[in-house]
Amino acid sequence: MGLSLSSSSSSSTFFTEHVPIDPNPYWEPEPGDHIYSERSGGLYYHHGIYVGDDMVIHLMAPPIIYNRFSDPCQKCGYKRNFSSGVIKTCLRCFLDGHSLHVCEYRFSKPAHEVITMATDCLEWNYLFGPYNLLTNNCEHFAVFCKTGSKESDQVKTIFKKVLL
Ligand SMILES: [Zn+2]
Repeated sequence: MGLSLSSSSSSSTFFTEHVPIDPNPYWEPEPGDHIYSERSGGLYYHHGIYVGDDMVIHLMAPPIIYNRFSDPCQKCGYKRNFSSGVIKTCLRCFLDGHSLHVCEYRFSKPAHEVITMATDCLEWNYLFGPYNLLTNNCEHFAVFCKTGSKESDQVKTIFKKVLL
């Protein structure tokens, strides 16, 4: 009963809750916000840090199939199925056609420190390290920028599912 990968958790040290944002053409995230977007019909989420000017810094897993000939986004240069690691893309590429949500935090660094951390990780990839689904994923990255600590509800949920 109630087995769901997409259920939000209130057990996190940092989050109060995941707040879905209604699609609204006038709404945009605040710089320094931890934003996320569902994938595969809500099976999992992709997370990132909104840094302003319609841009997001996020950690991408290596694509399953590389396509170095994919057309780059005209706005941000992002190449689907080619780019990986900590990258900076426009919000539209980050969302990839899915809805936008924001994570509310009980405790978070000030917005300018969150943006600085995300930007530093973009510049020096070793600061965060390579993608790992269980220990170093896109949610870990966003939480790390917000708090300085790596934590992933997504992974906890996967473990919960396995344990159940
Ligand atoms: Zn783009």
